Amino acid sequence: MKREEALAIVRTQLKEQRYIHTLGVMETAIELAKLYGADVQKAELAAIFHDYAKFRTKEEMKRIIIEQHMPQDLLAYSPELWHAPVGAYLVQTEVGIQDEDILQAIRYHTSGRPNMTLLEKIVYIADYIEPNRSFPGVDEVRALAREHLDRALFRALQNTIQFLMDKREPIYPDTFHTYNDIAKKLK
Ligand code: GDP
Ligand code: FE
Ligand code: FE
Ligand code: FE
Repeated sequence: MKREEALAIVRTQLKEQRYIHTLGVMETAIELAKLYGADVQKAELAAIFHDYAKFRTKEEMKRIIIEQHMPQDLLAYSPELWHAPVGAYLVQTEVGIQDEDILQAIRYHTSGRPNMTLLEKIVYIADYIEPNRSFPGVDEVRALAREHLDRALFRALQNTIQFLMDKREPIYPDTFHTYNDIAKKLK
């Protein structure tokens, strides 16, 4: 699928600000894919569709998580996590993208997972550092992302977990499992 077609589809699903965020993720994912030798076209498509399900209702997302036998522990954690796996499902069934690498990058873009592929890491980090993002620590991860992808991923996870803990939010186990996985690999 060509970029213009993909963008036209995703645009119907998103509010203006979220579409602008998506364009930022697309540009950043392409840049990182070139830098680290990933498949640039897959990075582009995964980035374009990563937040496809962002504005679905909780009810619809919950129904899909149950009916499609996704990890049921998702339902015990923040609905913020749900658009990632539900997005992978809808991008496959509604948009018709069958490439498993792309679908996995969408599925794991919020929590991450142990043993992430290069493409998954690129989408996760591009989502975190795209130019429209501004929060404490983002510039450090921006710089790290161009030097050492795993160190950037680790810093992003550290920041996310710290941020959630400061808000007394529950942490989804996969978020911790991803953190632990990278922590061990960086030792
Ligand atoms: P976005 O969709 O572009 O806004 O970014 P993400 O998909 O990466 O994250 C969506 C939201 O999920 C953010 O507000 C994160 O803080 C939140 N989030 C990520 N991991 C966890 C987690 O383990 N637990 C909880 N409660 N929220 C999380
Ligand atoms: Fe997201
Ligand atoms: Fe993210
Ligand atoms: Fe996003």
